[in-house]
This record gives sequence, C-alpha cells and structure tokens, in this order.
Amino acid sequence: MAFPRGSENEAEQSSTLVSGDVRRHNLSVVARFLLENQAASRSQIAKGTGLTRGSVTALTALMLESGLISEAEPKTPSGVVQENAKGKGRPLTLLALAADHVAILVLQLDADKVTGLLTTLAGEPLLRMAQSHGRPMGQPEPILDQLAAVFGQLVDAARALGRSLVDVTVVVFAPVGGEPAVVLADTDLGWWSVDVLAGLRRRDPRLPDFARLVPDSILAAQAELDLLPDVQDLIYMKSNSGIGGAIISGGIAIEGAHKLAGALGHLPLVPGGELCGCGQHGCLVTVAGPDAILAAAGLTDILIRDGLTAALSELTTRILAGEPRATAAWDTAVEWICRALQILAMSFDPQIIVLGGYWAHLAHTVKERLEQGWPQPMSGQLWVGPTVVAGQLADDAALFGAVRDARDRALMDPLKISI
Ligand SMILES: [Zn+2]
Repeated sequence: MAFPRGSENEAEQSSTLVSGDVRRHNLSVVARFLLENQAASRSQIAKGTGLTRGSVTALTALMLESGLISEAEPKTPSGVVQENAKGKGRPLTLLALAADHVAILVLQLDADKVTGLLTTLAGEPLLRMAQSHGRPMGQPEPILDQLAAVFGQLVDAARALGRSLVDVTVVVFAPVGGEPAVVLADTDLGWWSVDVLAGLRRRDPRLPDFARLVPDSILAAQAELDLLPDVQDLIYMKSNSGIGGAIISGGIAIEGAHKLAGALGHLPLVPGGELCGCGQHGCLVTVAGPDAILAAAGLTDILIRDGLTAALSELTTRILAGEPRATAAWDTAVEWICRALQILAMSFDPQIIVLGGYWAHLAHTVKERLEQGWPQPMSGQLWVGPTVVAGQLADDAALFGAVRDARDRALMDPLKISI
C-alpha cells in the first residue's frame, strides 16, 4: 500500500530519500506497480500509487541507476494520455521493470522427479528442466545428487545469461521444520529428517546462504488463490505425491505454531486404522493417498514400472471412463476425502475448496458427494457450504507459487538487487 499522497515540496522529497524504511517501502510500491502494469510513465506511477510526482521522479532515478528498471521504447501518444503539459505532443517515456541481471531459481522435488525452473524477476521462464529420480525409497543421497545436478545446470545457464541469483527456493512435497529448516518426514520417499540444503551445498558450494527449503502446499494454495478474485477464505487440498493442503483464512495462510498446519493428509480419520508413516493410525493418506488408491485399482505395476505421475494419469483416465475397479477404488477414497473436507469446512467455513494435483480432474465427483453430506435445513435456514472447484495450475501450482513468493520477497527491498 502506498503512503498517503502529500504536498510536493522539497522537505517531503528529502525526507523520502533520507528515511531508509520509507524509501524501501516506496521503492517496493513503485516496483510492484510496474510489475502489475508492465510499463508506465512517471505520471501514471504517481497517479496509480498515490506517491507524489517528486517522490516518483527521485525513486525512479534510483531504480534506473540500479538497473532495476529501464526506459521502455517511447510510444506515440496514441492510446496513452500525455499528462505533462510541457511534454505535449512528445512521445511519453515509459518505465518498465528490467532487472536483466538477476534471476529466480526454484527446484522442486516430488515423488518422481526433480524439476528446475529459472525465471526473470517478473516470473517469465528462462529455462525449465526435469529429471526422474526413480524413487529410491529411504535413500536421500542419490536424490540429492540429482537435485544438485539440476541446480548446477540452472546456475550455469544463469551465468551464461549474465544473471545472478536473487532468490533460490527448494520446494519439497513434505513438512519442513527446525532451524536450519529440514524435511521432517517424507512418506513418499521414505525419508525421516533430511537436511536437503546442507546436502545440496556439500555437492555444489554455489548454493547461496539465502536459499530456502519450503513445503509445497502453502505456495500452491497461494498461487491458486491469486487466480480467484474476491476469495479470502480457502481450503486447498491436493494429491500428487501423498496428500497435502493449506488453509487460507482472511487471505493469510495458517502456518501454526510449528509451521505444520495444513498437513491434511495426516488427519487421523479411521479409528484403529493402518499405521501411517507419521506414526499415527488411520490417516487420510492411508485410505485416500496415491499408493492406497493405485493398489485398490490394480495399478501398482504401472506405478513401479512408469512412476507415480504416469500411474495417476492412468488412474484418472480409468475413473473418468468408468472402469469398474478404478471407479470403486476412487469411490472409497472419495468417502474419506469428503469426511475430511466436511470436518475442515465446519472448522474454517471457507468460501471455496480447491482440489489440486490429479484430484483437479475429479473435482466434480468430490463436489457431488460432498454436497449430499451438507447439513440439512435447520430452523428453515439452509447452511451454505463452500463451493468445490478444480485447481487451475495442476502440478505446477507450487512451482509458480514459489516464483511468485520469491519475486514478492525480492521486491520488498528492490535496491538489494541492484547491479
Ligand atoms: Zn499420517
């Protein structure tokens, strides 16, 4: 949010530049405005942000000098209102986010593969690559080798493009905790505590100190939330490797005291149920997780031979085609998924439930079943349940969310990324 518009006098301008916090905030406001509007004149920035014209002139001068923005090709006034009377008739100088000297790097580790993505500061992809790791259960070392190999290739590519890394994020499909942050347990890979960043740094010392290890679900939920105008309260639940989720209330993701909120796959639903990798019995993932459904649908062979992504794709195709065994396996799982969602809906009263991963393709079946289970009219008043929708970003939700998060953090202090 911009600071209030004030009078455009010398004192204000100098205080804007003297106070570090105010300046950082205002730089961030201008950078975000340019990110959202792609290109704008100084007058348009002033009007759009509420900053004074004088402040915008001083701030953009700093940003030009630092290489964060550049002057875009001047455009003829057609379609662009010339606001400065003195410049009437002249082409308008537009400013745009440049930062051609930096890049954002994201690595994502799921149950099948390592995906690497290098983007510009604005999130435009520069290079994307993926390598299968073959799911060597309980063996972090070969997977860390692959993670380091993908990281190394992306760093080389960034250097070849003349870009330095402004943010590095490693996304894992598992809960993360502790200081330094480690994977606490990854039931898809048979991991207990694994210090992924330390393992990566041992293999490639170019991993910067600011690299972060983060779980996928909150990032994915926030990326989906961005695509839903006017939504502030959302439950996100997804399955691709395991089952994960996030709860966003009032636009803010609930992290909890130990940053474990949203571990929805480990809601212990089945009394006396199967022992889960987390140590509880009867977790949702034991009855509705990929391994359980694929086994019930008779697809374990494909899982072993072609990997989880291929097996889940086949499962989805068979369910949508009405193949009896896959449909029966899914119907059983949906009962448990809906049980979990009913409890969550009553607990958090969301506007929307977003189903991600391969569940996005089957969201209509969950919606149907869930709506049958909503409370019946009481005192003549219908309880309005949340809408169930399919996630729009499929398996890329966390990857996009990580880029968006990295970009937002970089823009909090734009001059840190000066040349
Ligand atoms: Zn569990």
